[in-house]
Amino acid sequence: MEQEYDVVVIGGGPGGYVAAIRAAQLGRSVALVEKERPGGVCLNWGCIPTKAMLRSAEVLETVRHAEEYGVKAPEALLDYPAVVARRDGIVRGLTDGIARLLDANGVTVLTGHARFLDAHTVAVHDTVPPPGDENGPGYAAPPADGPPRTTIKGRNIVIATGSRPVAPRIDGGDLPGVITSDGAFGLPEVPRRVVVVGGSAIGAEWAGLLHSFGAEVTVVEIMSTLVPAEDVEIARMLTRAFDKRGIRVLTGHTVTGIRSVLGGLSVDVEAVGGGEAGEVPADVVLFGIGRLPNTEELDLDRAGVAVDVRGYILVDDQLRTDVAHIHAIGDVTGRRQLAHVASHQGLVAAGVICGHEESIDYSVIPAATFTHPEVASVGLTEARAADEGHAVVAARFPFAALGRAHTYGATEGMAKVVADSRTGRVLGMHIIGPGASELIAAPALALTHDATLASVAATIHAHPTLGEATLEATMSALGLPVHTAPRRRRSHRP
Ligand code: FAD
Repeated sequence: MEQEYDVVVIGGGPGGYVAAIRAAQLGRSVALVEKERPGGVCLNWGCIPTKAMLRSAEVLETVRHAEEYGVKAPEALLDYPAVVARRDGIVRGLTDGIARLLDANGVTVLTGHARFLDAHTVAVHDTVPPPGDENGPGYAAPPADGPPRTTIKGRNIVIATGSRPVAPRIDGGDLPGVITSDGAFGLPEVPRRVVVVGGSAIGAEWAGLLHSFGAEVTVVEIMSTLVPAEDVEIARMLTRAFDKRGIRVLTGHTVTGIRSVLGGLSVDVEAVGGGEAGEVPADVVLFGIGRLPNTEELDLDRAGVAVDVRGYILVDDQLRTDVAHIHAIGDVTGRRQLAHVASHQGLVAAGVICGHEESIDYSVIPAATFTHPEVASVGLTEARAADEGHAVVAARFPFAALGRAHTYGATEGMAKVVADSRTGRVLGMHIIGPGASELIAAPALALTHDATLASVAATIHAHPTLGEATLEATMSALGLPVHTAPRRRRSHRP
């Protein structure tokens, strides 16, 4: 007879493990089925390993520029295997920590690939590691008709199976050296010449990272700027900053094919709309062009769970699928594909399963891109606010006018606030510059609590801090700038 649980969670990423822990804390018996390692893409192949490597890149750049800080350092040399070892050690430590947390909360963890047998029953199959790399990612799905290792029942089921990179579907997309972000983690050394296809967060982060490590990098982005989902002024500033650093950025271009040539690869690029075409030589072509939901290998039809045309699971704002006792959370729902969104959805789904009146609100979601300079934002862009009919007021404060940015040695970028001039309500904050990913937490809190420009301006900020940039932008939006010059005076906050 199958073991029955109050809640069965499929997938142990930041959505699934958080939902499992919260449901267990609320007194439910919980089983979590994970086919690879706890932590999902975020801990194993996403947020954490990239940030570990980006930190190595930051240290390298700082040592390279040590003399600017009055420090004489011997030549900065990259030890790439040591960067990888540090990264893998951090990942291992954190994923082991998640396993311990699940255990401490009484969650039963089953290693294997889950498939639905019916709306309450899940079969757990042994997983098959990718050939030659038992650490994955991308364990092959076991055959649907193969015998499962075990089957379990759930009174409630949470699907948190995440997403995988879109593989290139162009001529030459399967050549050796053509990879996605998953493959980038397996690079044995820093390639000499890299073409990154896609300039959104994942592509832009890898481009900056590999450039710092010494690669010659070209980014091909179909839209007119990098990070095109961001406020256009910020996106343009990042595009210019990449250019200034020596990263070649081909915006408004697309890759039409890749060919194997003597000594490497040749990437065919073409301007959107059939303009000029060209070739870029490369040793590695890294595609960061989007993600697809992991729904095909779940046998969702046996449970009656509906998906949209792209395969994403349809959910309501309580994360319920069209089968009332089955919830879905995280990347597989196709909302904002961010770890913190997956985790928040996990908390809400667990609460709803336990009878709480909870629902999710996607209007205030901070997001960060860990490039140099960093980009972070929350709420509406200026263009979006105008589209939604707000009487938009927007104001900026440059880091070049901020004392702390000078002491830090990073004066590139700005904070930009977007507000409604009729109500004074802050609608969005957009930051490019030092510490942007950390600075965005305070504006997110402000937006969650419907703060106005006046209430933010009345909040005392510590000095000298980078956070003063958001305060100063807010004061500017009120027409009361202290450290921004009305035209004739120069900007400066000591
Ligand atoms: P996942 O993390 O994808 O986890 C799903 C889990 O389900 C996996 O462990 C998988 O093995 C398992 N699984 C799948 N199918 C089955 C099955 N049938 N049976 C059993 N188990 C199964 N987000 C941020 O917020 N900040 C960042 O800085 C950031 N950086 C990123 C960098 C990169 C390179 C990438 C690729 C992504 C990044 N993301 C970042 C996005 C973030 O990783 C995802 O949004 C997040 O991991 C989604 O969580 P999830 O729980 O929905 O799914």
